[in-house]
Amino acid sequence: MPNTVFRRTEPQNEPIRSYAPGTAETASLQARLAAMASETVEIPCIVGGQEILTGEVRSWTAPHDHSLELCRWHAATPEVVESALASSKEAWQTWSETDPHVRVAVFEKAAALLAGPWRDTLNASTMLGQSKTCFQAEIDAACELIDFWRFNAWFALHRIYPEQPGSPPEMWNHVDHRPLEGFVYAATPFNFTSIAANLSSAPALMGNTVIWKPSESSMLSNYYLMKLMEEAGLPPGVINFLPGEPAGITEQLLGSREFAGLHFTGSTAVFRYLWKQIAERLGDYRSYPRIVGETGGKDFIFAHESADLETLVVAALRGAFEFQGQKCSAASRMYVPNTIWPAFRDRLIAEMEQIRMGDPADWSQFMAAVIHEGAYDRITGYVERAKMGARVLAGGKPSKERGWFVDPTLIECEDPQYETMREELFGPVLSVHVYDANKLDDALALCDATSPYALTGAVFARDRTVSEHMARALRHAAGNFYINDKPTGAVVHQQPFGGARASGTDDKAGAPQNLMRWVAPRSVKETYVPPRTWRYPHMGA
Ligand code: NAD
Repeated sequence: MPNTVFRRTEPQNEPIRSYAPGTAETASLQARLAAMASETVEIPCIVGGQEILTGEVRSWTAPHDHSLELCRWHAATPEVVESALASSKEAWQTWSETDPHVRVAVFEKAAALLAGPWRDTLNASTMLGQSKTCFQAEIDAACELIDFWRFNAWFALHRIYPEQPGSPPEMWNHVDHRPLEGFVYAATPFNFTSIAANLSSAPALMGNTVIWKPSESSMLSNYYLMKLMEEAGLPPGVINFLPGEPAGITEQLLGSREFAGLHFTGSTAVFRYLWKQIAERLGDYRSYPRIVGETGGKDFIFAHESADLETLVVAALRGAFEFQGQKCSAASRMYVPNTIWPAFRDRLIAEMEQIRMGDPADWSQFMAAVIHEGAYDRITGYVERAKMGARVLAGGKPSKERGWFVDPTLIECEDPQYETMREELFGPVLSVHVYDANKLDDALALCDATSPYALTGAVFARDRTVSEHMARALRHAAGNFYINDKPTGAVVHQQPFGGARASGTDDKAGAPQNLMRWVAPRSVKETYVPPRTWRYPHMGA
């Protein structure tokens, strides 16, 4: 142990590259994209640093181009899962005793590699495999992830480990922020490359070992993430990478006595199912497992009649349709007063008609394809039903010939409880309920109570006293709340992210609150001069 108290300067958020036409960054990313589009990558399981090809092969094609096979990944067999459990246990012996500055250095190096030589690879694999435009890939796979790694490392060194109790002069009290005893299971969603990396790496940063099951629908970028962390110096077995069939792998992992925590992001239904599985086995585990889950949303934009129309239209367009509405934070329901509705509607539809959708290799696209056939069928099912049950004002003309393309769609719902006002569609569909401008409080109450979720929400009003009133009325309706801004685009260390109610445990990804879930603090009291008699003064001589 060196005689050093390690300190780092506070990080800055990673600047977002513009990828404007003609820039060097555009040329570099386009070259990587073309190279990657011409290869089909073989993706193994990675256990204890060993790459294992199980022969149980699945294929993934680009969502925007059915002819583009990007990878063939090998699903973990029960034997491989068993070896991951053993590897995790072995790695824990060393990693849980490894000094914080060593752990921090691994993830800071990963951030530096990603900011430099790995940036194009992570961006291009996210564009191809998850169908993101260059900008959507950049804010996810590059900037947000670099921020997660840099800020988490800084939070550990500067916010968590130095947090120590008071000690009178005759004793020394301290807290040892131990890792959990056992492994953390990270089950990650397809939609953000950064989240996949954060769920697996945040517990590892705090000294835990992790078994990571990536989503079947983001295998290409997630495999490169694993390779990047290895290059950054992550020791074998600290994170084991298990592509595979979700239910079987989960069953096996949750059946282990060593299971110590779940780090999950995905749908509410799967999270509830996992929580129940854990609860049923509670007596079998060594400790009470930590359960951290960020799940679905039914995120809203609520407009007051004083709202600035121009900014409201932009917020609706970007909030609802970027990345095809597949952000947990995406605006999917709106409340607009009758006084401004006709003007707002006409402007919004006029702008929607300008949106270009297609292969993200074409830089002029604003949107690309939804992730897979299941998503396409689910979203278009809602839109088809809405043609009868509500009013489809724009969009509603999907196409699946070349890829899974769902055009941006606007639905007017007279019934504020119509299914598209309540349920998460996870697609580029915005539902609007027009309310009576004279009944603002009734409409706010409706917005608060309509959906079980409480992830993100935005209010728009020019009058500051009105936006304050709206913010109070909707205090519990969103874990991330915006005033005069779209409800997407949270930035690490600026808007800590997470929701409550059915949207999750609100443990704020990329913030000290989340990292604290991966430690089991031990309080240590050392007494310099212990008492030499058991008698108390009140007892007399
Ligand atoms: P999903 O629930 O389908 O999958 C998430 C993970 O769970 C994947 O790794 C998947 O393989 C696994 N899984 C699926 N079924 C399982 C089962 N039966 N047993 C065990 N594991 C299983 O979610 P998705 O489609 O990848 O992501 C979209 C969802 O994630 C949306 O609901 C979105 O709102 C949510 N999300 C939330 C946040 C947030 O911060 N709140 C962020 C991103 C995504």
